[in-house]
Amino acid sequence: MENCIFCKIVAGEIPSPRLYEDDKIIVIKDIEPKAKLHYLCIPKVHFAYLSEMDEARAEIVKHCFQTIPKIAKDLGLEDGYRVIINQGVNGGQAVLHLHIHLLGGEVLGGF
Ligand code: 5GP
Ligand code: ZN
Repeated sequence: MENCIFCKIVAGEIPSPRLYEDDKIIVIKDIEPKAKLHYLCIPKVHFAYLSEMDEARAEIVKHCFQTIPKIAKDLGLEDGYRVIINQGVNGGQAVLHLHIHLLGGEVLGGF
């Protein structure tokens, strides 16, 4: 998708070191971390919202949720972590390419 920052990162047009990559997703450090550890799990295909889900996209989101616990383990987050998917304006979604935040490395405040 043109003018999508995460599509550009996926395509390598904007350099961003990958903590993890496979055929469906990449995991990168958030550029403005909101916790000691803050990563983004980003599907390689572009779609913005959970409301756009179809079978293929659901497989990718499932894959994200299967991969995140492995990454959390590798990061030493055995005491817990938080995953967040912001959706839309009221949800605080700034980048309209679906992504899952992984936050941890400290005790996170409630909300
Ligand atoms: P959202 O608010 O859309 O759920 O989250 C977007 C996140 O992407 C924010 O936490 C922001 O810091 C991060 N972000 C925005 N642009 C870039 C970028 O170019 N590189 C990386 N690594 N993270 C970015
Ligand atoms: Zn995109």
